[in-house]
Amino acid sequence: MTNPILRADAIHKSFGAHHVLKGVTLSVATGEVVTLIGSSGSGKSTFLRCMNLLEMPEQGELRVSGHQFQFGKGGKSPRDKQLAALRAEIGMVFQHFNLFPQKTVLQNIIEGPIQVQGESPAQAKAYAMELLNKVGLAEKAEQFPSRLSGGQKQRVAIARSLAMRPAVMLFDEPTSALDPELVGEVLAVIKSLAADGMTMVLVTHEMAFAEQVSDRIGYMRDGVMAELGPAREVMNQPKDPKLVSFLERFHQGKV
Ligand code: ADP
Ligand code: MG
Repeated sequence: MTNPILRADAIHKSFGAHHVLKGVTLSVATGEVVTLIGSSGSGKSTFLRCMNLLEMPEQGELRVSGHQFQFGKGGKSPRDKQLAALRAEIGMVFQHFNLFPQKTVLQNIIEGPIQVQGESPAQAKAYAMELLNKVGLAEKAEQFPSRLSGGQKQRVAIARSLAMRPAVMLFDEPTSALDPELVGEVLAVIKSLAADGMTMVLVTHEMAFAEQVSDRIGYMRDGVMAELGPAREVMNQPKDPKLVSFLERFHQGKV
């Protein structure tokens, strides 16, 4: 890949004696959608969190847009300002939405752009309304989160993240906490972002969706990227024997 917008190179991360990421590498091109799949505990969330340095790797290198970080020998710990600059480029949406309950939907979305990025309230509101339209919730702008369904809350969380105008969006199991009937509306929003050319790295257990929306799929096993390739190929002609059985278990509805 000639000019990836995100490149995580040979990332290692341990928690105490537990070596969770054992040299994981991934490059993501501008506009590309990459989905990470794998069993629980394989390191998917930790790897995503290393991409915006919510977790600090012990070894490896990370480049996002113009920001570069080197870990381990020869690397310096990043300063707060560098971390803030990196995180401004990367939005993250989690399983749980973490909206501020005492703020309206609109206030939730404009807070970051005004406080962190110094946008004017008028500008922030105009963009927030644009984003609420995009996620189909313009009429909920003045509501408090407690009045929304889980699917609506997650769509607001996506709009809030987009309001910071990130170059890359990370999604960590964005539909895992939702009732089954609410999953589709959130996946539809993610799909529309993909169609708009948003660069995204997703972790999901929605396999059919992953195949549809992703350019590439990576299979993580035991802290390594055991397989990485075009979405259709990874799903339909998996090579790693553990991936074969992982996908079989999915098709039998056992995961
Ligand atoms: P996945 O998202 O694929 O389910 P995780 O990245 O959450 O996997 O976790 C990988 C391993 O790292 C698990 O064994 C988990 O218990 C461990 N782990 C993750 N975060 C921490 C942490 N903050 N402290 C200690 N262990 C952790
Ligand atoms: Mg996880």
